[in-house]
Amino acid sequence: MIDLQKSKAAFEEARKFMPGGVNSPVRSYPHMGCPPPFIASAKGSHITDIDGNTYIDYVGSWGPMILGHAHPAVISAICKAAENSTSYGAPTLKETEIAELIHSVYPSIEKIRMVNSGTEATMSALRAARGYTGRDKILKFEGCYHGHGDSLLVKAGSGAATFGKPDSAGVTKGTAKDTLVTPYNDIPAFKAIMDAEGDEIAAVIVEPVAGNMGCVLPVPGFLEALREETAKYGTVLIFDEVMCGFRTSSHGAQSFYHIHPDMTCLGKIIGGGLPAAAYGGRKEIMACIAPDGSVYQAGTLSGNPLAVTAGIETIRQMMNIPDLDKKLAEKTSALLEGWKESADKAGVPLICHQSGSMFGIFFSEKDVLNYQDSCEANAAQFKAWFLSMLDQHVYLAPSPFETLFMSWAHTDEDIERSIAASRKAMEEAAKA
Ligand code: PMP
Repeated sequence: MIDLQKSKAAFEEARKFMPGGVNSPVRSYPHMGCPPPFIASAKGSHITDIDGNTYIDYVGSWGPMILGHAHPAVISAICKAAENSTSYGAPTLKETEIAELIHSVYPSIEKIRMVNSGTEATMSALRAARGYTGRDKILKFEGCYHGHGDSLLVKAGSGAATFGKPDSAGVTKGTAKDTLVTPYNDIPAFKAIMDAEGDEIAAVIVEPVAGNMGCVLPVPGFLEALREETAKYGTVLIFDEVMCGFRTSSHGAQSFYHIHPDMTCLGKIIGGGLPAAAYGGRKEIMACIAPDGSVYQAGTLSGNPLAVTAGIETIRQMMNIPDLDKKLAEKTSALLEGWKESADKAGVPLICHQSGSMFGIFFSEKDVLNYQDSCEANAAQFKAWFLSMLDQHVYLAPSPFETLFMSWAHTDEDIERSIAASRKAMEEAAKA
């Protein structure tokens, strides 16, 4: 067994002072029966814990580290920016630079507002949509996670699903009643809600590629139906690309599927590993935001010079790598093919999903199209496989409701080693 003695002690200490010993729930492994590795450092595709174990990392800080950890150009840009102070709370040239850069990659984002987390981005986008339309209701999809804003913690995915709390305590009935929920990928159910209540719905918010009930792709026609119906009822269509942005393709899921939302939320990669996120979209909607309009939203650290610098450098580096999307997708496919073969050999049913460099597996015989399907996958087999992979120094998200990420830094050798590890791990899964 892998030695996690120091992590175990660190976890015990942390639990005295922090709920679950962590600052974000899924980092704690109560459902896995082992302490979470406490991390000391990371470089490229590898992450090292305080016991000195080095793992191949497919979590990538839950998405941002698309270039790999501690990319030299990103680190050097951050250090240089830090010499000029870490925050001013006043306009900087870099903020216009990132706004222009993001607009060039996501043309549907005509105007943008930087915030500090994906949660803030989705909360603020919804407020903007409500201010713009003068309507109260919003529609989300079961198993999609859009951060922990009150109105979005209804049938939510990610950690909320992992810990069996898709509807969080502490959200008032009044707030929850304005959030309508319907299954992902179910076009008739979606149309029925829009027919009944479309003209009262301010916004439809969706992960165009879902990553918080495992990795679930949109079925053909689903995103098209969202676009058509929202246009019909004057409802704002919000694509939450906090996770799939720059992953499904470097121009986002919206360019890959040729569907242009009214608003987009971004996060993770645009902060290059520092806290930055953004929401933006059509000019007339963004005109509602203070100080131009009457929808209030602000932030002491919004557009922070270090975070913006890290984001700009990350995006620029990505744009300079020829065929980045193709190469990342190829690495991801190679890994998944190997994992699938290892499952077949062990007689374990496995479904593999991939959208560019985000990917996931389900221990399931039937395809997974929505949250219900994801819940029906075999959790015991996932756990056995996960623990064996950890033991063999492959670092994965500790929940079947999460997504994994390939980075530019992963080598062929990393992938071969991860496939070899899965051969043994799938044998463990077969016994579970
Ligand atoms: N939206 C999506 C699609 C996400 O995956 C996440 C976080 N994983 C969020 C919003 C919330 O982002 P944050 O954790 O930065 O608040």
